[in-house]
Amino acid sequence: MRKFLIASNNPHKVQEINRILNPLGINAFTAADLGVDLGDVEETGTTFAENAEIKATAAFEKSGIPSVADDSGLMVDALNGRPGVYSARYAGENATDKDRYTKLLNELKGVPDENRTARFVSSICCILEDGTKIKVEGTSEGKIAFEPKGEDGFGYDPVFITSDGRTFAQLSSDEKDAISHRGASLKKLEKALRGIK
Ligand code: IMP
Repeated sequence: MRKFLIASNNPHKVQEINRILNPLGINAFTAADLGVDLGDVEETGTTFAENAEIKATAAFEKSGIPSVADDSGLMVDALNGRPGVYSARYAGENATDKDRYTKLLNELKGVPDENRTARFVSSICCILEDGTKIKVEGTSEGKIAFEPKGEDGFGYDPVFITSDGRTFAQLSSDEKDAISHRGASLKKLEKALRGIK
């Protein structure tokens, strides 16, 4: 198996990334798994793509191991694209997923169903052994619910409604991979890696 470093400590992201990379003969590990100290990498970019590249570059420079970073978030049309690149920090530093989606539901109070359109975006930057950079992006369109539903997934999943009316948190892992932003970006990454192999 080829070894990649994932510049993320989010276990859900790590699982989603490994589900797609494992069939390619790639095992992705976190910095903690590999005993690498990435320190604090400031996400100073103004786009998901910039932040993904900042994180992947820091991981590759520190470790010398092929590195993959995902920067993702939720863009809500009624909020002019917010929380966007600030999705993780939307309700402050020590907030929980529940704090974040509750804040979102409060901000959208009074906004009718037809104006609750939103999309998840996942930007991935992967840096290979020789420094080659692969940059891909995937999106998933949906709407923000009026109340949370479902137990699975993470982040804003309980309030993100897909085209069949269920939230991301009501989908199985396979169902989420098939339609999610990260499923889409990872499929593009998979295609690019197959092309290079
Ligand atoms: P990042 O780790 O800086 O990329 O922050 C991404 C943030 O966006 C996460 O903390 C989640 O709040 C949100 N997010 C990204 N992808 C998903 C997803 O698949 N489901 C739910 N929330 C997500």
